[in-house]
Amino acid sequence: MAKERPSEGKAKTILISACLLGLPTRYDGKTKLSQRVIDYLQREDLLPIPVCPEQLAGMSTPREKTFFHSGTGQDVLAGSGKVVSASGQPMNEVFCRGAKLVLKIARLSDCHHALLKERSPSCGVHQIYLGEECVTGVGVTTALLINEGLEVISEEDL
Ligand code: SF4
Repeated sequence: MAKERPSEGKAKTILISACLLGLPTRYDGKTKLSQRVIDYLQREDLLPIPVCPEQLAGMSTPREKTFFHSGTGQDVLAGSGKVVSASGQPMNEVFCRGAKLVLKIARLSDCHHALLKERSPSCGVHQIYLGEECVTGVGVTTALLINEGLEVISEEDL
């Protein structure tokens, strides 16, 4: 039997929206580095697992801005809501693919918690954009993670 090192398997993992850690994954090629998030990870001694569902789904960076045309992330998963790009392209399939890949990473890295970027159509936790309007709702990846039992918070909950 393999001998376990003292710290092996002990670090608590957490999924993090990659842009919050300073990675340039946003649609405009910029980051959303959050010192509050970095401080939280250090304070809680958490091992961050950076994910960007939109990049994982194969979208390029920079890319078109996207937003909800109808419904929320839960509705997109259920087949009734709609995410579109600024030029009107339907994005449901891409967003659902990204969400499933993030879930796969959560399973592989034993993540039961996630800290995601507020108001993103993928990562929003409390709010999203319905067209130009900021409304209550979750992004597509957030919806799937919640449905699968993960606890999801945003940087604004810290
Ligand atoms: S999809 Fe999520 S992780 Fe990727 S850039 Fe947008 S908010 Fe950040």
